[in-house]
Amino acid sequence: MFNLILFGPPGSGKGTQSDKLVARYGLIHLSTGNLLREEIANQTPLGIEAKSFMDKGRLVPDAVVIGMVDAYFDKHKGARGFLFDGFPRTAAQAEALDSLLAHKNTSIAAVLALEVTEEELVKRLLNRGKTSGRSDDTNEAVIRNRFAVYMQETTAVATHYKAAGKFEAIHGEGTVDDIFEAICKAIDSKMS
Ligand code: ADP
Repeated sequence: MFNLILFGPPGSGKGTQSDKLVARYGLIHLSTGNLLREEIANQTPLGIEAKSFMDKGRLVPDAVVIGMVDAYFDKHKGARGFLFDGFPRTAAQAEALDSLLAHKNTSIAAVLALEVTEEELVKRLLNRGKTSGRSDDTNEAVIRNRFAVYMQETTAVATHYKAAGKFEAIHGEGTVDDIFEAICKAIDSKMS
């Protein structure tokens, strides 16, 4: 298997690039944000619990997210690899992912981190909020809170994978295609 984490702050382009990467490399896209929004749309107990955190720009509790990822793995047993988008977001999630993958005799090949300035991120998110229907993208205070959470909790994920020698930064500003090519170059060098 080839397992990749696409890492970066809210609005850094993970969703956009994930769609293109999945098409090129045939990986299964695992976006915890998308899975959570699906649970909310279906008004499941998990979705109802998650919504109260997401609307404030806070993280959904680790146990909820990890359980959801575990269930998603079970649904995709023959996958040739996964592209993780928006997960892991805490050190505990990174450790849980490592052990879930170890059980499948596989591991993370690389963590590619999209780097974008905060001003550009706020611009992109407010813009996305105009059409996405995402309530967490329309309020600047909620957006700023998501950045604060990213700095406080999610940076630990970078530290975790830097220690394992798997972390690589990618310049996340420019055209979608240029960024995609930079990501592909990094992936191809890991695959060969
Ligand atoms: P973005 O990267 O733009 O913040 P996501 O769709 O990845 O968008 O996530 C939206 C929200 O869903 C987050 O602010 C958080 O509340 C929740 N969420 C998504 N993934 C996780 C996760 N791995 N752990 C905890 N909460 C999560």
